[in-house]
Amino acid sequence: MSVFYKEEANIGTVTFDAPDSKVNVLNADTLIGFGTILDGLKNKNLKALVIQSAKKDIFIAGADIKEIENITDEADAKAKAQAGQRVMDTLEDLPFPTVAVIDGAALGGGCELALACRWRVMTFNDKIRIGLPEVNLGFVPGFGGTYRLPRLIGLQQAMKMIVSGVPVNPQAAFKSGLVDRLYPAVGLQESVREFIEEIAAEPGKRVLMRKGPKGLAAFLDNHPLGRMVVYKKTIESVQKATKGFYPAPLKAVDVIRKSQYLSREQALDIESGAFAQLAVTPISKNLVRLFYLTEKYKKLSVSGAEGIKPAAMSKAAVIGAGVMGGGIAQLLSNRGVWTRLKDINHEAIAKGLAAAYDVYKHAMKRRKARPHEVAAKMAMITGTVDYSGFADVDIVIEAVVENLDIKQKVFAQVSQVVSPKAVLASNTSSLSVTEMARVAKDPARVIGFHFFNPVHRMPLIEIITTEFTSQQTLVATVAFARKLGKTPVVVKDAPGFLVNRILLGYINEAGRILSEGGTIDEIDRFAVNFGLPMGPFTLSDEVGLDVGVKVLHVLEAGLGPRFKPASIFDGILPKKLLGKKSGKGFYIHGKKRTVNNEVQALVKAGGKVTEHEAIERMIYIMINEAALVLQEKVVDGPDAVDIGMIMGTGFPPFRGGLLRYADSIGIDTLMERLEALESRFQDGRFKPCDYILELKKNGRQFYT
Ligand code: NAD
Repeated sequence: MSVFYKEEANIGTVTFDAPDSKVNVLNADTLIGFGTILDGLKNKNLKALVIQSAKKDIFIAGADIKEIENITDEADAKAKAQAGQRVMDTLEDLPFPTVAVIDGAALGGGCELALACRWRVMTFNDKIRIGLPEVNLGFVPGFGGTYRLPRLIGLQQAMKMIVSGVPVNPQAAFKSGLVDRLYPAVGLQESVREFIEEIAAEPGKRVLMRKGPKGLAAFLDNHPLGRMVVYKKTIESVQKATKGFYPAPLKAVDVIRKSQYLSREQALDIESGAFAQLAVTPISKNLVRLFYLTEKYKKLSVSGAEGIKPAAMSKAAVIGAGVMGGGIAQLLSNRGVWTRLKDINHEAIAKGLAAAYDVYKHAMKRRKARPHEVAAKMAMITGTVDYSGFADVDIVIEAVVENLDIKQKVFAQVSQVVSPKAVLASNTSSLSVTEMARVAKDPARVIGFHFFNPVHRMPLIEIITTEFTSQQTLVATVAFARKLGKTPVVVKDAPGFLVNRILLGYINEAGRILSEGGTIDEIDRFAVNFGLPMGPFTLSDEVGLDVGVKVLHVLEAGLGPRFKPASIFDGILPKKLLGKKSGKGFYIHGKKRTVNNEVQALVKAGGKVTEHEAIERMIYIMINEAALVLQEKVVDGPDAVDIGMIMGTGFPPFRGGLLRYADSIGIDTLMERLEALESRFQDGRFKPCDYILELKKNGRQFYT
């Protein structure tokens, strides 16, 4: 039993409290239990019915995603949504006041349940988020959310919440009229009792705290023409943001629009139909799976180290105040970590501090941070040109230039000045962490801590272990990554680690394709059409071709000739056409970006690679490399590859990840195509690796 009923002094209380779980979800059993309770109340004349949760910080986290994941049949999906809708209707139709008392997350079905109550009260608990995040899982709300939310808080606000899927905090919920009262968590029961007295004194009157919109906002919310403008604008912005790859937000607009003047029954029928249509699609299945994957990595534990408690980390040092060092210092200070920022001179430190401040400035502009908070956080970063203040730091993050000699010198020096417990981490993108560990006083405390650029935006960190790294160091570093709000993926020290190794194969293949013909922007467009956030040449211009080619050489030396830089790069590098940082690369970066004809002129005229072939070559080469990564046990399984590629490179989430995409192609087809490409180019780069041969032999897939 997960839902309980109690009655006292003519006030009923329904309490959600799933056994053996930290959260409440609306699974089929709970809904049936709740529905039965409500059926028994239909003919009562209660003073009020209170609906609450016994879980800390959770009201109801949503419908049971596992149940939705298992639905494969549209009719079944529709029936399941309708079952939930019926329960919410029963709740809405009760002949006495109903009050949702929300002191924790109320998401998806949880929010929809609250919407079916006549009143909603909430605490100031900063863990509370309320909203309808269904579109993030590839479907639309299915328990009446698209019907009730616009009618409660107005079209524009509801549209924003449903289409973005972003839940709101108590203050925003109150402001929009989604909740009727906010109370301190202390004394909540007393407040609720008083609230019930207040509404009982004037039954039938909804004492709205929120005044309805006026002027243009009212026109947009309520006038048929105004509403048309809202739909049109929303559709335009969704199309721009999703490039047509994610059908759910558009479907949500469609459902709201179609049902705006319909009866509840008709509107809910449209909603359940849309939910059913979407919930069975591969896109939704991929997004649901990604949700699980993200949850898994949020809680990642180091296998075999369950008993080890991570050392607390509150003080850090960053060496190198460049692009990455400045960004890392900002992140650390933002997360409450005292930071020493070291460089070789004061000018460099000033630049690093300015870079950190820039990130905060941007946040202030977007009203995500206040000036006094930023001042306090910036004060947590102090610059230094020597090792003063290093003696009591918990972790050192090295981010000096990508040069092993220099890095080794830094590791040897810093070993002498830190406490024996400090972790020594390197942010290297491609160099051997093992070689850095060798020169440290205690190699067991050395680890790779590879951020992605820009640090404050990219969610991934690769944590690189060497043969010397201790479990204690690993556990502490994983916990620290999480403290910084990043998703850690643990990777064995090997050239290019995980993400860059796979990604560089793609950029290199794009270079080869370009040498054979076609245009720079066309090949970029092929990649974007596939769903990647940017094409290979745009990406190269962002990173700098010199950096890319340098890493390719590291990979070539460590992994073999398949990483030999594409010949076209040789023509570009000496011309110093490096990308954004030199103003020109594959593109000219002026006010308006244009293709750089100087590079385009190096391409053989008349040749052309079709979109199909280009995508196949760029993506399949990554799949083969990812399989090699698994073969060499660089990571512990396909999950790590998929989360790494999605969070580190923006590999399209709707495709579920690189290896999930490979499975959708099927191992047979994949093998066949790789072999065909290999027999055409005959240089080994498409030769299916043993891991793939093994999968094929055993009739398996990456995910069995
Ligand atoms: P950068 O050139 O912008 O900054 C390097 C800084 O290190 C400079 O300020 C330099 O003065 C300083 N420095 C050099 N030697 C030093 C020493 N002995 N002691 C103290 N400071 C020293 O470089 P970056 O792009 O920030 O890269 C730094 C590291 O991060 C590299 O290992 C790089 O591979 C890695 N990385 C870079 C990116 C990226 O996109 N830029 C992404 C991930 C990782």
